[in-house]
Amino acid sequence: SLLQAAPSAAGPGGSAARLAADGGRASVEDLRAAIERRELRLVFQPQVDCASGALAGFEALVRWQHPRHGLLLPEQFVPLAEAHGLIDALTEQVTEQALAWFAATFGAAPARAAGEEAPSLAMNLSARTLEDESFVERILARCEAHGVAPARLILELTETSAMEDPVKSLDVLTRLRMKGFQLSIDDFGTGFSSMLQLVRLPFSEIKVDKSFVMTAGRSEESRTVVKSIVELGHSLGLRSIAEGVEDAATLGYLRGIGCDLAQGYHIARPMPGEAVADWLARRSPRGGAD
Ligand code: C2E
Ligand code: MG
Ligand code: MG
Ligand code: MG
Repeated sequence: SLLQAAPSAAGPGGSAARLAADGGRASVEDLRAAIERRELRLVFQPQVDCASGALAGFEALVRWQHPRHGLLLPEQFVPLAEAHGLIDALTEQVTEQALAWFAATFGAAPARAAGEEAPSLAMNLSARTLEDESFVERILARCEAHGVAPARLILELTETSAMEDPVKSLDVLTRLRMKGFQLSIDDFGTGFSSMLQLVRLPFSEIKVDKSFVMTAGRSEESRTVVKSIVELGHSLGLRSIAEGVEDAATLGYLRGIGCDLAQGYHIARPMPGEAVADWLARRSPRGGAD
């Protein structure tokens, strides 16, 4: 649910802290203040090539270290931001922090193995963002300010949000695409997009929802869904990525069906930006966690 406590594995802040005041609820006022004080933080989760294990990029995921409720996950405050007109400010802060980290880490001296391309940076957008006329120019200006080429960025939209108003989405997405941004359709398989709408929107990537990927090892049905989405993507000329890859067997399965990229706890958990250099140095040349 929206305001449930974060799992303790998610980071610092004991459960006692989360059960304290406000009945465990973060308020809009808290969120507004946190955004103003720039208290939102990002973690970054690696994405790797299924076949070679090579690093492909990172997805930025927002966190809120709440003074009383501990570490909050996006499900616990992104919907609140969307409902109270704070999502543009949140997106702006996420974009700014992500680009600053990315430019500092991969801008000057690329920390990557020989033969690997420059990594990409994926960020999540809310459906609301597509209603904002000035978004395209603003994110472009931010990229320029940080010296990051738009082509390095992958903007993720959930299947449901992109399809909310496909006509309007088409306009903003086309403008983003023309500026060079890559577009990813996130959580694919959980909505009910028609193929026709999907082909019309200028996506670069299709991201198989983790609910299917996480259960692929034990469910024939999940494997069928994962394989169908990867094939659908490829037949439309889209790169495929599976999120929620939790074990070696699933990574092997994905490799077998020709899925392009993988992201999940088996490869790495989302980590603070400062931890990425260590992770890069520690990982095997083939990039896998095995
Ligand atoms: P998402 O974009 O589909 O991100 C993937 C989620 O799956 C992340 O949860 C990630 O931590 C989690 N995950 C990754 N690998 C595994 C795995 O192997 N097993 C399991 N069980 N989970 C895994 P997180 O960080 O809680 O984010 C949840 C959602 O919140 C995201 O789903 C995204 O839709 C949204 N979100 C995150 N950051 C932002 C943001 O900056 N802006 C907006 N608008 N939404 C965001
Ligand atoms: Mg995402
Ligand atoms: Mg997803
Ligand atoms: Mg999701």
